[in-house]
Amino acid sequence: MTQRVALLGKPLRRRHSQVMHDAAFAAAGIDARYELLELEPDAVAGAVAEARGPDWLGLGVTAPYKRVVAELVDVVEADAAAIGAVNNVLRAQDGRLIGINTDAPGFRVGVELAMGRPLADVEVVVTGAGGAAHAVVFACLSAGVRRVTIGNRTLLSAEALAQRFADVGAGSISAVALDDPAFATALRSADLAVNATTVGMLEPGATIDVELLPAGATVFDLVYVPPETPMLQAARARGLRATNGSEMLIAQAAIAFERWTGVGGMADVMRAAVTPLLADATSRA
Ligand code: NAP
Repeated sequence: MTQRVALLGKPLRRRHSQVMHDAAFAAAGIDARYELLELEPDAVAGAVAEARGPDWLGLGVTAPYKRVVAELVDVVEADAAAIGAVNNVLRAQDGRLIGINTDAPGFRVGVELAMGRPLADVEVVVTGAGGAAHAVVFACLSAGVRRVTIGNRTLLSAEALAQRFADVGAGSISAVALDDPAFATALRSADLAVNATTVGMLEPGATIDVELLPAGATVFDLVYVPPETPMLQAARARGLRATNGSEMLIAQAAIAFERWTGVGGMADVMRAAVTPLLADATSRA
């Protein structure tokens, strides 16, 4: 029996996850396939219910369904519940569905590679207050950073995010609007600046003025299409460490794959499979 995983979302413009997981299934000798299921909102509950069947390993979940799927599964793991988003679902042997979040640990792997040091005892500035920013801020505080400043276009969303994670870890957390002078002040002492908005992907521009950062800072952009955003170009031109979201994408997929199959160590296989897509700035197929 061929086993199944399906990615639920709308729209589903990219094949990166499918390419990575199908390559890993082949390399591990597992008879399974990763499908793309672009669904209307009223079809999501039915798709989740179908994944209780014996031929399913689980589900991937992307925008805009990461919150709603958390309501449809039987168990939500503690980190996913804290973040408020499920980006993968595991089917247990008894058919129960378990919601997990692999964006947070995937971010940690990607950003530690980018920084060349553990994500602890540093000052971080994060732009964005959406689903990805929730995972990033949670990962930073859980890892033991000293301070997180969240800058967002809509101040209210940043404040809600800061409040949600006020008790996670020992670091301090604050929220500012992107045009508040306090945002520029935070950048001047940041060790790590993270773009977790859609700026650079859906529209040109940058949320972070890299000229304000100290010389030793790392710039991390969650965006991976295009591979080099204007923010990363500017950071590199200044000689800063600058990395896009591709290693986070690969790491979160490898973690999900191991949870579904018990087979770890697939990051290299996944990276080799997805590299041609990542190198193509127009790859939205
Ligand atoms: P989301 O929930 O839609 O949140 C979008 C965020 O972008 C919001 O904070 C929004 O601010 C901000 N934003 C949008 N347009 C803006 C503008 N013109 N100026 C300033 N801020 C703007 O999106 P998401 O799911 O968090 O995803 C964010 C990014 O992370 C996407 O590019 C996604 O591809 C990437 N991502 C990458 C990975 C990876 O593995 N590398 C994983 C997850 C996500 P407002 O609150 O003011 O609207």
